[in-house]
Amino acid sequence: MENLDALKKALDGIKIDDRPANLEKKSKDFYWYSPILKRQLTGVIADLVVVPTSEKEVVQVIKACFKLDIPVTVRGGGTGNYGQAMPLSGGVVLDMTGMDKIKEIKPGSISAEAGANMWKMDQQAKAQTGQEMRLLPSTVRSSTIAGFIAGGSGGVGGIQWGGLRDHGNIIRLRVITMEAEPRVLELTGWDLHKVSHAYGTNGIITEVEMPLTAAYEWIDVIVGFDSFKQAMAYGAELGVQDGLLTKLICPMAAPISQNYFPRHEDFVPAGSHVVLVMVAPHAMDAFTSFTEVGGGTILMRSDMLDPKVARRLPPLFEFAWNHTTLRALQVDDSITYLQVLYPYPNAVELADKMDRMFPDELLSHAEFVRFDGNVTAVGLPMIRFSSEERLEEIMRLHEENGCPVFNPHRYTLEEGGMKQTDEVQLSFKQEADPKGLLNPGKMVAWDNPDFDFTSDQIYLFPGLEKSN
Ligand code: FAD
Repeated sequence: MENLDALKKALDGIKIDDRPANLEKKSKDFYWYSPILKRQLTGVIADLVVVPTSEKEVVQVIKACFKLDIPVTVRGGGTGNYGQAMPLSGGVVLDMTGMDKIKEIKPGSISAEAGANMWKMDQQAKAQTGQEMRLLPSTVRSSTIAGFIAGGSGGVGGIQWGGLRDHGNIIRLRVITMEAEPRVLELTGWDLHKVSHAYGTNGIITEVEMPLTAAYEWIDVIVGFDSFKQAMAYGAELGVQDGLLTKLICPMAAPISQNYFPRHEDFVPAGSHVVLVMVAPHAMDAFTSFTEVGGGTILMRSDMLDPKVARRLPPLFEFAWNHTTLRALQVDDSITYLQVLYPYPNAVELADKMDRMFPDELLSHAEFVRFDGNVTAVGLPMIRFSSEERLEEIMRLHEENGCPVFNPHRYTLEEGGMKQTDEVQLSFKQEADPKGLLNPGKMVAWDNPDFDFTSDQIYLFPGLEKSN
């Protein structure tokens, strides 16, 4: 890269890293979940990793990169799974894990630096105030809070709190612009949508404030059923029990747990379809009687395990959300996945229809969540991959049958999301990143305003050719 020496000079005093192995490591995320992204992105590599430890250092990096026209891709824990934090045009990877302080925990909220580890935030909130984070990705142990806000969508807790996009689930963001004289902005209210889930394309988050809720010693339960449809129907009914507090309701078809969760083999009989549930301790009595009536069999509950066995089992949320696919990939690397919505009020029927449409090729996995005020399910079904054409066809068949796909095999914001320009995020990028240096190639509307999202075309960022 031109200007690399000038950049290093301008970053004097800030931690930098250009060891080849680290450049490689910090240029990758979990993009390899997708065979399509794996083919497209394997050669992507940064020229320099920079690890700021304060907002002042972030401003110094931004000023230097702006002056030298060097792209900057912000990175948290690197657990995104669509190449979100991969530097398609090379340049700097700005590793935010050096800014990881928790600043304040008070009734109702927690503030922290952008690179704070989410597990630490959750645990400290519990220990100090008996509160916990509302929403956690299943990667909570390794992801940062700003990475979750900029790249994630929701997760554990979604059955009570919906998703990150829901108004009120983020309180405040402090953001730095990519300009000759970077501005520091405090965003609240509707302005939060300018940068949340924008993949770091239009501002660098340096500090966040997130809402908290009452903490519990959640009990993990596995409930068994004879069919996937029964498991879905139970999940849907459990999700609307207004007096019964749960944090996770995750139905999965057989043989997911039998094939991919070897540590649970003593609990789940062959052929059993399961629902993974996290239940508040005070709700266990209501939960067990509800399950009895709902036709489920409790196969495991964490509060009744032999302590020696309990110690060997990871928490159930690490088998849910995108961890289900990770567990499967550890056993069978031909597995990939989809992200779909089974819209209200037909979630059970639609998930069952899709389950039956692709026998032996699709393994059903859903998560019940609040969505626009109703309880419905999102699907993270796994696919036994045969070809890119067949994968595209399976996604098309989902859409044709009324199940919108949030395509996890695309690296751009729009194609992975609503397949349309987000005018708010685009206009904020025009103001906050006039040279287009932040995470290039991820916002199609910026690169190619004429791109037709309704065509079958896949957007290919021209700058990517340089990396591959
Ligand atoms: P990174 O991957 O480092 O970055 C994500 C995006 O945020 C990138 O575009 C990056 O440029 C941007 N970014 C990072 N820091 C900043 C900053 N300071 N300012 C501006 N932009 C920034 N996601 C969910 O929503 N829910 C889940 O339950 C979930 N489960 C997962 C399970 C597995 C096994 C895997 C591999 C992924 C999962 N994900 C999930 C996706 C991902 O883990 C989450 O989105 C995670 O919270 C991302 O955090 P991170 O710190 O690793 O971010």
